[in-house]
Amino acid sequence: MILVKALILEQGKVSLQEIPRPRIEGGEVLIRVALAGVCGTDLEMIRGYIPFSGVLGHEFVGTVVEDPRDELTGHRVVADINIGCGDCCWCKKGLKNHCPGRKVLGIVHKAGVFAPFVAVPRNNLHCVPRGISDQEAVFTEPVAAALQITEQVHIPLSSRVAVLGDGRLGLLTALVLAKTGWRPLLLGHHPQKMERAENQGIETMIAEEFKGQVDFVIECTGSSRGLEQALKIIRSRGTIILKSSIAGNTEIKMAELVRREINLVGSRCGPLAPALDLINRRSLGLEELVDEIYPLSLGEEALEQAGQRGILKILIDMRDED
Ligand SMILES: [Zn+2]
Ligand SMILES: [Zn+2]
Repeated sequence: MILVKALILEQGKVSLQEIPRPRIEGGEVLIRVALAGVCGTDLEMIRGYIPFSGVLGHEFVGTVVEDPRDELTGHRVVADINIGCGDCCWCKKGLKNHCPGRKVLGIVHKAGVFAPFVAVPRNNLHCVPRGISDQEAVFTEPVAAALQITEQVHIPLSSRVAVLGDGRLGLLTALVLAKTGWRPLLLGHHPQKMERAENQGIETMIAEEFKGQVDFVIECTGSSRGLEQALKIIRSRGTIILKSSIAGNTEIKMAELVRREINLVGSRCGPLAPALDLINRRSLGLEELVDEIYPLSLGEEALEQAGQRGILKILIDMRDED
């Protein structure tokens, strides 16, 4: 049995452990992970957002090293993280993200990517075009999550859109919107983070200083107070899109939603193919979002660092591990 190191989440604690190299099951291929990204969801999972124990991590790029059909061997790939049962009405409609029996890479009943190898169903894979670097490709999943907003909600290009929150998700969402035709206003708290958005031509402002009202608020605060903040700046009959996955609960005055006829939309994972296409066509400045790249041997520190103030994106490099 071949043993490999992996970052394992167990009862709210992450540690580097040796585990057997994953074996592929029906329909799966084995991927040698190159780079993995730490995302807010990983940090929330450590805080107990969803009960899970096993290899953490879901944002990655890697190369297929074992494919029983030998069609994908050698290809650089990223993966859709939702693995549907294939049989239910959601899966049959192509909405496996909502399959009640789904597994989710590194989140629900499926070992994730903070390890040198991961087994993923071939149907979940997308080949990465040559023009995209590994450091850009690792952002495919979060870029797709940002694109999901405009898949779900029709946002006229002329509308006033505010992105609330200048963390990983907020910045990426503002970037994706700005590069696809909208003019979002990024509202945050950290001048150093917002400067990175300004460098990409995005208008920013300290959240508390903004007194206006907008047609759409995209809530990316990662805080249980995000919805309350969004309600302060949404106009009557406006739409709030909730993107934060947080472990905590929130309390709001429901009557305000009713009285002001506010639309509330939850939004999660998005389509990978258009995300890859966007990364390939437009310069999103993704590499500039990376603060530091850690080797897997320092993975525990990488997760620690990712939770620090002012940090945007921490990557973990698996290439030294075998
Ligand atoms: Zn993520
Ligand atoms: Zn299903």
